[in-house]
Amino acid sequence: MGLLDRAGARLTAHPEEAEILVVNTCSFIDTAKQESVDTILEMARFKTSGSARKLIVAGCLVERYRDEIRKSIPEVDAVVGTGELESILEAAGLSRPAPMVSTSPFTILTTAQAAEVRPGLESRAATHKHADNSNRASARSLREPGEVSGHDFSRADNSIELTGALAPEVKFRAEGNERERQGRFSRNDWQGATHLLPTYLYDESTPRFLTTPKSSAYIKIAEGCDHPCTFCVIPNLRGKFRSRRFESVVAEAHQLVARGVQEITLIGQDTTCYGEDLGLKDGLATLLDALAQIEGLRWLRFLYAYPNRITGRLLDTIARHDNICKYLDVPLQHASPAVLKTMKRGAGADIFLKTLEKVRTAVPGIALRTSFIVGFPGESLRDFELLEEFIGKAKFDWLGVFSYSDEEGSAAFPLDHKVPKRTIESRKRRLMKLQQSISKRAKQQWIGRELVLLAEGESEETPLLWEARTQFHAPEIDGKVYLNDFADLGPSVTTLEPGRFYRAQITEAHDYDVVARVLSGPL
Ligand code: SF4
Repeated sequence: MGLLDRAGARLTAHPEEAEILVVNTCSFIDTAKQESVDTILEMARFKTSGSARKLIVAGCLVERYRDEIRKSIPEVDAVVGTGELESILEAAGLSRPAPMVSTSPFTILTTAQAAEVRPGLESRAATHKHADNSNRASARSLREPGEVSGHDFSRADNSIELTGALAPEVKFRAEGNERERQGRFSRNDWQGATHLLPTYLYDESTPRFLTTPKSSAYIKIAEGCDHPCTFCVIPNLRGKFRSRRFESVVAEAHQLVARGVQEITLIGQDTTCYGEDLGLKDGLATLLDALAQIEGLRWLRFLYAYPNRITGRLLDTIARHDNICKYLDVPLQHASPAVLKTMKRGAGADIFLKTLEKVRTAVPGIALRTSFIVGFPGESLRDFELLEEFIGKAKFDWLGVFSYSDEEGSAAFPLDHKVPKRTIESRKRRLMKLQQSISKRAKQQWIGRELVLLAEGESEETPLLWEARTQFHAPEIDGKVYLNDFADLGPSVTTLEPGRFYRAQITEAHDYDVVARVLSGPL
């Protein structure tokens, strides 16, 4: 959106008004694919009933079904994969925007400058043709010397020019290179998918158009994933793990705070690996330390920690800074050692309980979020009961449960002993019910607590209630705090300011949500 906006496009949320429609897709599980396809078909109708001239499909579905989309949905004019972000301009018929004037306090080299000062570093800022030899050459050059690629780079050309930003300075982790040799990222099972893995990384000079409320923003600090989880095709879609440059992330955070952002959430498929490819030790902790110094940044958090990468240094960093939210999202996926072994994640309930104890001791009061998959092939009733017992002991603040989705291209796809759909759904319901009772009891303990809240806006249900979050709620995903009483702010105050912080006291608790009275603010 930032690129389109900078190139002069006027963005609209009303498809019937748009000349160019862009559907950004997801394809990591069945339901996501279905939703993506439904949306493409829904948007395609505006080419006949609205003013749309072009329909562009972007994102992960393109990485998986590039040819299939074009063949099956002729209304689609162009496809843009996750590694070709900047080709959206060509697809939309717009020219490239002028470079942004940096407001960064750091001297950040452009890719071309970096190539000049680093002998041997190939400039990847040059224009690349989507599927031509130059792109193949640059993709090959990203490999270690002597490394043999398992890819065949043949693909159908869709004749969109790809300009700019193949990731500068990309150097993968040895683990990622090894996994590639073992076939981890193979797309051979996906008919019509290109074999070329994305290497793209945005940086602080990439224009962004924020769709989040003005006080909050996400920063993606790394892309791709080298883990071997057998149920997961995200690495096949997103490529090998690669971190954004440290200075680039810090510069972007400064820019966002200067634009009024007060809450930053760091994301990546595995944020706890951040910096390993750049040679940084404890990269995430070091990054958090640097970002926490930014004046005006009130809340800083990161999502998606890998369980065995939660180091003492990381926990110490969370504990040490007031503006780092006492919040940890660590997807555990299961608790039965047998299932975790087949998932190629390892560990089990006992180890996880020790990890959680370590986390809670190092950061008292921390909110813990996790997610599990039920119905992985071979999951026995005993495995499921182990998971249930674990959830009962671990007492997570927030918990999500996914039904196993059998994905072609994943290592779990050929496994026997698939769990029937009905069993999967009933196990999912059982876990959610269990968590509901855990959450209900925990939220009762919140009553009487005084907390700082970020007011988000009037509730969609009624204008008499406002919605807010504490540091223990990540944006969009966790429960809510409803504000129903502003009397302490004075008789003239009948409303709050969205995006501002207030002090409030919790007065009621429900299963996942709580109700609070505003005491003072905006802070
Ligand atoms: S760590 Fe997450 S993204 Fe990476 S392979 Fe495992 S589940 Fe997929």
